[in-house]
Amino acid sequence: MFDDALRTLKNLDRQSISISIQTDERGYIDKQCPYQDCEFLFKVHAEDWTNIFRDEAVWCPMCRHQAPAKEWFTVEQVEHATQQALKLVKGKIHNALVSDAESFNRRQSPDSFIKMSMKVSGGRRSTSVIPASAAEAMQLEIQCDACQARYAVIGSAFFCPACGHNSVVRTYTDALTKIQLKRDSQAIIRQALTVASGKDSAEITCRSLLESCISDGVVAFQRYCESLYSMFGDASFNAFQRLDQGNQLWASAVGVGYTDWLDAEELSRLKILFQKRHLLAHNEGIVDDRYIAKSGDFSYKEGQRIVITERDVGDLLNCLTKLGRALKAACENHQSNTQGD
Ligand SMILES: [Zn+2]
Ligand SMILES: [Zn+2]
Repeated sequence: MFDDALRTLKNLDRQSISISIQTDERGYIDKQCPYQDCEFLFKVHAEDWTNIFRDEAVWCPMCRHQAPAKEWFTVEQVEHATQQALKLVKGKIHNALVSDAESFNRRQSPDSFIKMSMKVSGGRRSTSVIPASAAEAMQLEIQCDACQARYAVIGSAFFCPACGHNSVVRTYTDALTKIQLKRDSQAIIRQALTVASGKDSAEITCRSLLESCISDGVVAFQRYCESLYSMFGDASFNAFQRLDQGNQLWASAVGVGYTDWLDAEELSRLKILFQKRHLLAHNEGIVDDRYIAKSGDFSYKEGQRIVITERDVGDLLNCLTKLGRALKAACENHQSNTQGD
């Protein structure tokens, strides 16, 4: 009596269902990091996913987790696929029951004493699957400078998902953007915190946020220099935390240094800011004689606590942006010259 239904069930065993995934309006498909502590959502260009990405390995742009290409479906895509598969299976079984009922009813003899009929309610169902739709386009589109793969993220990213490459320049510019955002959000944060937890905590938080801008900038610059300098050899520990030493290293490596890229005023401001970072990191921000001697900043007396202003952060960003650009150009120049030899 249930021949069709049983046959359908048997056919469903080991049957694969393919559900297509749509691209967004810019041609990107959604991906998600399978590492459970990360689950970073990003997008990759559909053409590059086919042509550049490899089956064996894809990297997370945020945490650099590595896994085969088939593991990067988003939670939403998996849920959608499960629902569609379930709907398809249910529909097929339902339709098989409908045709079993029809053939059962057809087989009833018109002159038999007891009349039996079978009805499956709801008629036949559609057994097509709907493709998974794409999430809204992401603002930041990035092209890897090593493998040319295109990907998109919200906020920032550190690694190329197609080759795992960490762009030194990108990491540095992202760090500077983050500092700028921290500085520019001061007013909003102060206002929100004043309402939520009072003036004291607003003041303390905002001050420590501004101070962190200075150390973030120095650390980002140090890492950037270390990465760029690695093509010339190893610099001694923390060499790029000290402007004089860094300047000398670059001068002997590429023939130019900070003194060529910043004017005297900028350089003396930068020197003060690097020394302020040192005080914040090692002396709770309390001025000592070494600070005054090294920075040439006579606006403080020993024992005072330094103040970081929005202008300080602005000056630091200005200098670090200039130095960042100049260093990149100098290293590229050096590379193309040595390749030409
Ligand atoms: Zn991740
Ligand atoms: Zn790449």
